[in-house]
Amino acid sequence: MRMYDLIYSKKLGGALSAEEIAFWVKGAAEGSIPDEQSAALLMAICWRGMTTEETLALTLAMRDSGKRLDLSSVPGLKVDKHSTGGVGDKTTLILGPIVAACGVPCPMFSGRGLGHTGGTVDKFAAIPGLKVELSEADFLRSLAETRFANSAQTADIAPADKKLYALRDVTATVESIPLITASIMSKKLAGGADALVLDVKCGSTAFMKTLEDATTLAQSMVAVGTAHGMQIRALITRMDAPLGWAIGNALEVMECVEILRGEHGDSELAQMSFRLAAEMLIMGGAARTLPEAQAKVQASVRDGSALATLRRFVALNGGDAKALDDFSRLPQPGQVVEIRADRDGYIQAIDGRALGILAMDLGAGRRDRNDVLDLGVGIRVQVQVGQKVAKGDPLFRIYAKAGVKVVPDTYLATLELAAGPTAQAPWLLATIGC
Ligand code: URA
Repeated sequence: MRMYDLIYSKKLGGALSAEEIAFWVKGAAEGSIPDEQSAALLMAICWRGMTTEETLALTLAMRDSGKRLDLSSVPGLKVDKHSTGGVGDKTTLILGPIVAACGVPCPMFSGRGLGHTGGTVDKFAAIPGLKVELSEADFLRSLAETRFANSAQTADIAPADKKLYALRDVTATVESIPLITASIMSKKLAGGADALVLDVKCGSTAFMKTLEDATTLAQSMVAVGTAHGMQIRALITRMDAPLGWAIGNALEVMECVEILRGEHGDSELAQMSFRLAAEMLIMGGAARTLPEAQAKVQASVRDGSALATLRRFVALNGGDAKALDDFSRLPQPGQVVEIRADRDGYIQAIDGRALGILAMDLGAGRRDRNDVLDLGVGIRVQVQVGQKVAKGDPLFRIYAKAGVKVVPDTYLATLELAAGPTAQAPWLLATIGC
């Protein structure tokens, strides 16, 4: 088999066989196929796409490039969640403890942030002492003892994805539905969960800008999961403005704890996290209907068992659980700057992508993979779309390193103000799957 022939065939729009795909993935991971040939094939796939059979074969080849986790020592159906990511997306820290507190084991592997989007691993890393890279034994112990485990993706899970993702990142080939599907689903299948709820983001701040593209991606992932015997369901959710009030790692931990304490229950972040958690409870067999699952979710927040589960998970894995009750123990900023409205109006839109980049520039995110984060910096977004503001009202609170110059106009430019009220689209755009 020659890599040249695979590239040539895909360039003309042909379909690759499962054997050809396995040959490529193995060679790319081992280094026997040069990066330029993999990059050429990735670009051809971007333009020509893949059939469902090809996407399935690519997913399997990537899954089988590394280890598969065996979670069978933990009783019950294990349910995972994956979000395609966005600014302020911190639902894992809320729903993981809720689902676990309701009796369903929730094993999760997360990523670090890059560019304008944050990563769940970085948010957990803001809790002092918490180990964010768990060994397999610690991951299983956490799952067995608290029903919740979250760890950075280990190098031995789908290593071919790591290699191919790095190439996609520098060759403008990230945004391809079959490549995204195989990348995400290979890691999820290797992670060993029985069921998966997908949160596919759609909007200006997300990978998928239109409902049509988000639906195609969700259907593609659901098809791959189903073909491999996984229970899988996708929610398509709006992602234009930041999700919740916090952007930045320690701030996002605070917001999640507040929601687990029962605060901000009507916020989009709480509603979305509660709904995803309810879907997970149904898949895990802890509830039969959505209202029953939603009642269990609410009860776990009301009776404090969800927050207690988060405390137990943090303490078990070396973290300072007291920081969840005393936020002064979390990383702090060097200075806090208030930004106020310079005129009256109604908030028409909040540019989540631009705020994500500003938060990255403050040190909350990585421009480059090797950047070191400042876990205490970030942005508190104090307004929501549709809200009326008067000149002088607080809009943003900036948590920055000492000595950094904060320029109000750069933050004001992320808001679109209108003379009259505007209707906000619902956060839940569609559901796909079982
Ligand atoms: N997240 C992933 O893990 N892979 C992709 O391809 C895109 C988002």
